[in-house]
Amino acid sequence: MKQEKTPSDTLVNEPPSYSGYSSCADDECFDDIRNIDTEAISGISNAVYSMIEGIGEDPEREGLLKTPERVARAMRFLTKGYRQNPVEMLQKAVFTESYDEMVLVKDIELFSMCEHHMLPFFGKAHVAYIPNGKIVGISKLARVVEVYARRLQVQERLTQQVRDIIQDVLNPRGVGVVIEAKHMCMVMRGVEKQNSTTTTSAMSGEFLSSQSTRSEFLRLINR
Ligand SMILES: [Zn+2]
Repeated sequence: MKQEKTPSDTLVNEPPSYSGYSSCADDECFDDIRNIDTEAISGISNAVYSMIEGIGEDPEREGLLKTPERVARAMRFLTKGYRQNPVEMLQKAVFTESYDEMVLVKDIELFSMCEHHMLPFFGKAHVAYIPNGKIVGISKLARVVEVYARRLQVQERLTQQVRDIIQDVLNPRGVGVVIEAKHMCMVMRGVEKQNSTTTTSAMSGEFLSSQSTRSEFLRLINR
């Protein structure tokens, strides 16, 4: 058994029972699912039951009996970003600081779902900004990627949303975001070669106006 499971692994492979929430690293999400989501869970479960019938399977078969509820819980977890407020989350961790060089967090793992097929896309985000009197706790840059990734997305919009929220809350001299991801809707259907990666970028301020800033950012993330 793997020692470290991500919360999504835990939920998708082995959904916790009502008593088994301790395996989740993010208790908040499971409290949410446990206490508030009864109606949503049953709505999604019913839909998944119909899906199973629709693909010609028997939803009453032993192995599938609990699948609708498992899928429902997984879906609620994978879309929990709709119930999180990225502005509040960032604002709580803003500090006054005179540091004025680029801050870069690279290789932020990201798991999202394409809104066209509801299949996963996953990869890495690189997020940079140049402070303008304010900095934000570095872990929040990764968290903000997650809040937007845990929704139905297209990679282009996800990239821009991350840029915009940092620009709006911090008002820095510029923001640069690059996302590299593989889309299962392409890989599994054989639309693209299996190793193809989609890259998107969104920039603002000095990342747009200064060639050297943009080059430095791209050089640092490609290193
Ligand atoms: Zn898709």
